[in-house]
Amino acid sequence: MTNKNFIAGRWCGGSDQIADINPSDLDDVIGNFAQADANDLDRALDAARDAQDEWAGFGLEKRYEALLSIGRDLMDRSGELGELLSREEGKPLAEGRGEVYRSGQFFTYYAAEVLRQMGECADSVRSGVDVEVRREPMGVVAIITPWNFPIATAAWKIAPALAYGNSVIWKPSNLTPAVAVKLSEIIGRQELPAGVFNLVMGGGGTIGDLLVGSGKIDAVTFTGSLNSGRKIAARAVPNLTKIQLEMGSKNALYIDDEASVDVAVDCAINGAFFGTGQKCTASSRLIVHQAIHDEFVDRMMHATVSLRVGHALEERTQIGPVVDQAQLEQNEQYLKLGKSEGAKLVCGGDRVKRVTEGYFMAPALFIRGDNDMRINREEIFGPITCVIEADDYDHALALVNDTEFGLTSGIITRSLSKAAHFRRNAKTGCVMVNLPTAGTDYHVPFGGRKNSSYGSREQGTYAREFYTQVKTCYTRAET
Ligand code: NAD
Repeated sequence: MTNKNFIAGRWCGGSDQIADINPSDLDDVIGNFAQADANDLDRALDAARDAQDEWAGFGLEKRYEALLSIGRDLMDRSGELGELLSREEGKPLAEGRGEVYRSGQFFTYYAAEVLRQMGECADSVRSGVDVEVRREPMGVVAIITPWNFPIATAAWKIAPALAYGNSVIWKPSNLTPAVAVKLSEIIGRQELPAGVFNLVMGGGGTIGDLLVGSGKIDAVTFTGSLNSGRKIAARAVPNLTKIQLEMGSKNALYIDDEASVDVAVDCAINGAFFGTGQKCTASSRLIVHQAIHDEFVDRMMHATVSLRVGHALEERTQIGPVVDQAQLEQNEQYLKLGKSEGAKLVCGGDRVKRVTEGYFMAPALFIRGDNDMRINREEIFGPITCVIEADDYDHALALVNDTEFGLTSGIITRSLSKAAHFRRNAKTGCVMVNLPTAGTDYHVPFGGRKNSSYGSREQGTYAREFYTQVKTCYTRAET
């Protein structure tokens, strides 16, 4: 049976289909998924346009209830849906379940935001005139999401889009269509006007490109790689479509000479390898003060080799497979490149055999890295990290900031003054002190600087900058 697209309130086939394969067990086909074509997309775009006004005028309590119900369903079913997510994407069960639960929290958070939409009033400079500043929906919003947080990224975009009265066309990644269908089923069961929410599955260069280039959308929000982000910007801007891009990074964790080594190793292992290193917030550069370097490297190496790599659905597994063959090969190319550039691979990097055939790879630790090496400049997106030795704090901070990216950064230190200086001077959108570079909350803004992000912030109340437009109204009451 083929899983279908959801267009104008109905489940519909597509012109083609793809198979969804479990990266922990290549014999396990999760299902077949329809691929939307240009006609499907056109129907979705028209339905979204037709339904949007009705949705915006739907009444706040009904919108609140719909979002709350989606959120509760996700949280109640985080066990079952988390297992599907882990089976499809390869992250360990605890991470899969946690991601689904968090996705529910995005919906309940934005349910509450529906009732908290306050405008602004002002006196005019002209007497007898009042000024009201309102926020109104953007209209039809295209949402394009990656595979690595397939349900969380979708939730943190779909929830605010709907909360602020927009209709949605969602194109998920073709590597994770199963959770996309499940989330769409949950949304489809709510009493929304048909066409407010649409799911179109397919490739980025095909249906994604058509969606982004369509003059029928008012805004596009994208999370994915820098290359795709650049293409999307080039496609959307000629139509003057509003864009929000969240892209890759090359996050650094700095380990200071005044750090607790226990905390440093915990944070480095978590940030570099959990989620198989396939996180935009992953610690792919470990910048270590020379005074603590040897001790840290020794402890980090032991912690890395003891990580349990295996099938994502086995409870003991800490590191699941990488997502697909192409990503595995890309990781191997970077390992080769790192060695040829002069970094020393002290552990990991090998393919790992397990009972089932999957894309298993031992987490890899490079040392003696230099910040100019390509392995320290390009996003690898795998379980590979590299230690770079720093002479002192100032040198370390310069290295942290010497990158085209700027999503997250972290410092491990007991020094309050260095922590405070780092918070102010790290050129990233998020800064972590004595915490992993990965792992953020849902009620506060998330996003980066430089080539990691473009446009306004996601999450928390900041999301309304993207999903609404401002109207300034002048009223002369006495005529
Ligand atoms: P990707 O760029 O290959 O694909 C992301 C999505 O964009 C997919 O749905 C894909 O089909 C679509 N797409 C690709 N090219 C397109 C085009 N030309 N037009 C329209 N759509 C297109 O990224 P990925 O491999 O799925 O995800 C990994 C990347 O995502 C990494 O770079 C990671 O850092 C980034 N990411 C960033 C954040 C963040 O918030 N900054 C969060 C998660 C992942």
